[in-house]
Amino acid sequence: MKWEENVRKVVPYTPGEQPNRSGVIKLNTNESPYPPAPGVAAAIERLVPDRLRLYPAFPEQTALAAELAGYYHVGTDQIFIGVGSDDVLSMAFMTFFNGDRPILFPDITYSFYDVWAEVYGIPYETKALDAEFRIRTQDYVTPNGGIVFPNPNAPTGVLMGLAQVEEIVAANRDVVVIVDEAYIDFGGISAIPLLDKYDNLLVVQTFSKSRSMAGMRIGYALGSPQLIKYLNDVKYSVNSYTLNYPTLELGVEAVRDKAYFEACCGRIMQTRTRAEEELAKRGFTFPKSYGNFIFASHKSMPAKEIFERLKENDIYVRWWNKERIDNYLRITIGTDEQMETLYAALDQICGG
Ligand SMILES: *Cc1c(COP(=O)(O)O)cnc(C)c1O
Repeated sequence: MKWEENVRKVVPYTPGEQPNRSGVIKLNTNESPYPPAPGVAAAIERLVPDRLRLYPAFPEQTALAAELAGYYHVGTDQIFIGVGSDDVLSMAFMTFFNGDRPILFPDITYSFYDVWAEVYGIPYETKALDAEFRIRTQDYVTPNGGIVFPNPNAPTGVLMGLAQVEEIVAANRDVVVIVDEAYIDFGGISAIPLLDKYDNLLVVQTFSKSRSMAGMRIGYALGSPQLIKYLNDVKYSVNSYTLNYPTLELGVEAVRDKAYFEACCGRIMQTRTRAEEELAKRGFTFPKSYGNFIFASHKSMPAKEIFERLKENDIYVRWWNKERIDNYLRITIGTDEQMETLYAALDQICGG
């Protein structure tokens, strides 16, 4: 068809499967196995249907922004809120990566980065992780149009120390450096304290993993007031009212209950420690993970085969048909009970 010539053609991001039936053990998209904070359920009860007549508030003027600012000890003018961190990151790519030089990110990383670069026409270069899946600082000390990486990295779980993060940010004062901290709450150290020193740093976090609210779609970024202003200018040029009224109300409660949040993260980290032992016993190797998942490779059975066999057993994990990582499975940390079922299935599949 003639009209197809003018179509923006993209290869979309492939999210993990969302099997639409019960009884499945879902360890494939790094959701939390625990429910959101109890205050969230109470806030649902308090929602006022009549409020839906009105457009929602501007995110940065809400109790949610104030709560986040208080939690992280920054000004409300340093907070940007979006529809999941995917929305935040996408807006950040559009806003900050508008130069001619290529932006840089690791060759093995969150597989949305190249999709956004493609859809927005941003030139990009990937930098190979070392053999232990670590980011090499020197790769990012070169002229570039901006930098983005997750810390801990996805899907490897490998954490970069704060000193190395700072080295990269400090070496790139002429561009914006985005640190995607989707998994920082599972034992990592956030780059947020660096915001006082670096106005070119944007730290992105999400409610989807550690705050048990992937279904709500809330993500946020912290940065200098100037960065956040630019981000809002672009956001309001695309769609002003992105966060709906229930989301804004419920999000507040998820941040407020610090004790519950810390307990959930603690439990997941405990289960992760146990999973390291159980997987090692069964012939898996993996880099030390600081995420709510383990990126594991089996000594003899190909990852693809284990992936398929697990699925036959209604256990979903993630596998990528991609160079360098196609013999790895990314296994989300579930409840202890779910993990026991996984270990039993692995005994059947890979011989125990
Ligand atoms: C899960 C994830 C996100 C996005 O999560 P949202 O649900 O959109 O907040 C962003 N970056 C990484 C590395 C992730 O793993």
